[in-house]
Amino acid sequence: MKHKSDYLVIGSGLAGLMFALKASEFGTVTIITKSKIDNTNTSYAQGGIATVKKVNDSYESHISDTLIAGDGICNEDVVRTVVTEGPEMIKDLIKVGAKFDKKEDGTYDLGKEGGHSENRIFHHKDNTGFEIQRALTETVKNHKNITIFENYYAVDLITQHHLGYTIIRDKSDIECYGAYVLNPDTQEVERFVSKITYMATGGLGNIYDITTNPKVATGDGIAMAYRAKVLIDSMEFVQFHPTALYNKNERPSFLITEALRGFGAILRDKNGYAFMIDYDERKDLAPRDIVARAIDTEMKKSGDEFVYLDATHLDSDKLKSHFPNIYKKCLTLEIDITKNLIPVAPAAHYLVGGIKVDKNGRSSIKRLYAAGECSSTGLHGANRLASNSLLEALVYADKASEDSKTRLKDISINEKIPKWHDDGATHPEEMILITQSFKELQQIMTYYVGIVRSNLRLNRALNRLEIIYRETTKLYDRSKVSKEICELRNAVNISYLIIKMAKARKESRGLHYTVDYPQKGKLL
Ligand SMILES: Cc1cc2nc3c(=O)[nH]c(=O)nc-3n(C[C@H](O)[C@H](O)[C@H](O)COP(=O)(O)OP(=O)(O)OC[C@H]3O[C@@H](n4cnc5c(N)ncnc54)[C@H](O)[C@@H]3O)c2cc1C
Repeated sequence: MKHKSDYLVIGSGLAGLMFALKASEFGTVTIITKSKIDNTNTSYAQGGIATVKKVNDSYESHISDTLIAGDGICNEDVVRTVVTEGPEMIKDLIKVGAKFDKKEDGTYDLGKEGGHSENRIFHHKDNTGFEIQRALTETVKNHKNITIFENYYAVDLITQHHLGYTIIRDKSDIECYGAYVLNPDTQEVERFVSKITYMATGGLGNIYDITTNPKVATGDGIAMAYRAKVLIDSMEFVQFHPTALYNKNERPSFLITEALRGFGAILRDKNGYAFMIDYDERKDLAPRDIVARAIDTEMKKSGDEFVYLDATHLDSDKLKSHFPNIYKKCLTLEIDITKNLIPVAPAAHYLVGGIKVDKNGRSSIKRLYAAGECSSTGLHGANRLASNSLLEALVYADKASEDSKTRLKDISINEKIPKWHDDGATHPEEMILITQSFKELQQIMTYYVGIVRSNLRLNRALNRLEIIYRETTKLYDRSKVSKEICELRNAVNISYLIIKMAKARKESRGLHYTVDYPQKGKLL
């Protein structure tokens, strides 16, 4: 089966749906998404979107906060563009029906989060992402130019490599013609061909033991693009959210938003000591990497699996009305946040790196764009400032749609894409082996490639991963394609990229902290 459209969008979070909406003004759009349309990281976002609005805020202040969090390696031009274009992008979201909280006087009720020097977070209660996803989903579902394929799983990008007869002399000549995608009903791989392919597959939290990300976040898009020989960077920068609710067997871990600390909640050890004073003068509102490392250190010192977040001194009515979901969720564990301390621990949360894109969202492969968490724009440098990622997804969805529309007329759909071949392949005799390899990989990444790293740990991780890589490659080669085997193959690919890039960065910077080079410095 062959499907054709002007644009193929892989992923249905903010980056995917916003692009789809904008691109649909210029051509036909197909969206494929591996689960239900709203099963995305976007739906889970709590805090909100950072954008300058308030009278006493300024672009320069947001730019400066972003650059400080990025620890010296943000692309300043990108930071300026994203920050200054933010307010228009928020208007676009409001136009599609997303609602943000307002104060009684009708002005927006802007929140404050760690690393921000002003109140500039547009939010909807404590479930901003859910509200954004709702508004966008309703709009795309009713759009005549957009066709949505739910539960369809993208396996590989289609490039000249699949045509067989083309010799690629230079990586910059690689072109993308669409993707091979697994149909959930027939279990056959189908061809989705397009003039432009746009990757919006989100993050990779699930390669770690504890994560705030839903199950769909397995780094598929980055791995697919990597196999197609795209340029990838900054994979060593994986952000761990400092405060996920500690509840041992829950996956994904429930996030206790930074906004709660912005609101006045304080981290304490089990003796009640507010330990952040020992780590940073900004205390509980220091950037995430500092807070996560502080908690990691406290946990290692005490041997405990969590520390506490204390909101008991705050106005209880305001607490409940600002954070209704956190309040309700904690109550299910018999924790009343107005009276009890909340047990929290760090969890894998966000990937800074990914498919390298230019200022228009173009990747190094022709006809392939990327945006959102699977892309690397240079905005975040070595560390993402809270609530800057939804903003980045919005701005780059816009840039990619503007840029790609000018190219549509010069591109035609490649009609010579061969069918997917896996003749002779069978389903693995024991699917459990895939699950077990995935668990092993999660442990390797958690133990050896987590918040605090060392050369010894990274080498260990690489050696162990190589065994899983060999086993998985063999299994993949003789198996019929399934979502499970593909996710494992992708997880191996991206873990490899993280370890390799972490090994290459011979310094501590931002989210990459290593005991071998505790100081920041020039790359050796
Ligand atoms: C708990 C939590 C709270 C957060 N809070 C905030 C916040 O307050 N502010 C902020 O700015 N950011 C926040 N973030 C980060 C932010 O939500 C994400 O970075 C952002 O939503 C990513 O959007 P996206 O469109 O790139 O990807 P996603 O929203 O994750 O969408 C990815 C899509 O790709 C699909 N997909 C993946 N692989 C395949 C495949 N092989 N085939 C087909 N489809 C595929 C998925 O099914 C999904 O539809 C938070 C994240 C989490 C997890």
